[in-house]
Amino acid sequence: MQTSTRIQEQLDDLLRQFAELRERSTGYPCNLDFDYSALIPFLSYCPNNVGDPFYDSNFQSNTHAMEREVIGTFADLMHLPRAEAWGYVTSGGTEGNMYGIYLAREIFPEGVVYFSEDTHYSAVKILRVLKARNIMIKSQENGEIDYDDLRETIRINRDVPVIVMANIGTTMTGAVDNVNKVREIVDDQAISQVYIHADAALSGMILPFVDDPQPFGFDVGFDSVSISGHKMIGSPIPCGIALTRKEFVARIARSIEYVGVMDTTLAGSRNALSALIMWYALQKHGLDGYRSIVNESLEVAAYAVDRFNECGIPAWRNKNSVTVVFPKPAPDIVRKWQLAPYGDIAHLITMPHITREKVDQVVADCL
Ligand SMILES: *Cc1c(COP(=O)(O)O)cnc(C)c1O
Repeated sequence: MQTSTRIQEQLDDLLRQFAELRERSTGYPCNLDFDYSALIPFLSYCPNNVGDPFYDSNFQSNTHAMEREVIGTFADLMHLPRAEAWGYVTSGGTEGNMYGIYLAREIFPEGVVYFSEDTHYSAVKILRVLKARNIMIKSQENGEIDYDDLRETIRINRDVPVIVMANIGTTMTGAVDNVNKVREIVDDQAISQVYIHADAALSGMILPFVDDPQPFGFDVGFDSVSISGHKMIGSPIPCGIALTRKEFVARIARSIEYVGVMDTTLAGSRNALSALIMWYALQKHGLDGYRSIVNESLEVAAYAVDRFNECGIPAWRNKNSVTVVFPKPAPDIVRKWQLAPYGDIAHLITMPHITREKVDQVVADCL
């Protein structure tokens, strides 16, 4: 056993380290601008959101009611009538992606999953776990899927259902696959068995708030979507949402007697605090609040591109993206600013805690 002062010292050290790192956190898409101190008292209990949030549970200390509100809000944002919507708060974007592909495979067991080479690394893992047939499609220079390659590849496999994992904001360049074009490609070939899962980890909380979004939502053909909670919303605990149509989930539902729940989620016991966190953030800021937060972040991204370019560094970003891509700087700069390097590029992501002054500091270091 350690003495309590020694334990305290270690906690203090870790806290100092986190506080210090926060000041240089510029490369990962996590909004650090939050205050959840009102929720601290809830750490004294052991709530659990086991099971389907839309059914009663025998485990009564839960935040299912708030979870349903969160899902309702995301249904609105994703243009899915609440009466047709089903979803739950996940452990993060990966679980939401897995849920979407799981549903797709249950609906079309013979289907082939198409995804671009810029798709998040979770996709390949998920496809292996689910043993789902899949084909990787080329990407364009900006990170968007190559529609010609998609068309040709689907043409060769016309006899099997099409499952597309569309990127609504790629990890490295914030590129958005055009879901209308994807639909067109499938329709042109008269393929009627189609499922589109949208990986909208970051941009799922951006596109609903901009004036001229790329096509997104269930009205343009999403069948399921995954959005991270610790990214644009901001959360001390990784989390996210999986959202889909009620009718799809009915196919996989099983009732589990001893917890008195419908077993429709991937995890059994689920984090009730993350549902509370997302609910609190959405209540506190409101959608209008997030509209200004998101648009300010986009302005800072535009500012960052300008600043880099003025200094002779060829930075760029995709439309409606807070991900500013530029040539990978020296390793000590990558480390200092916690930039995410990939091949010969790196990116700065202007999440809400990134100010123009912070951008100036990063640019100055890159010169
Ligand atoms: C971050 C991210 C994910 C995974 O999210 P986690 O919450 O880290 O599991 C999936 N897709 C994209 C495009 C991402 O940027």
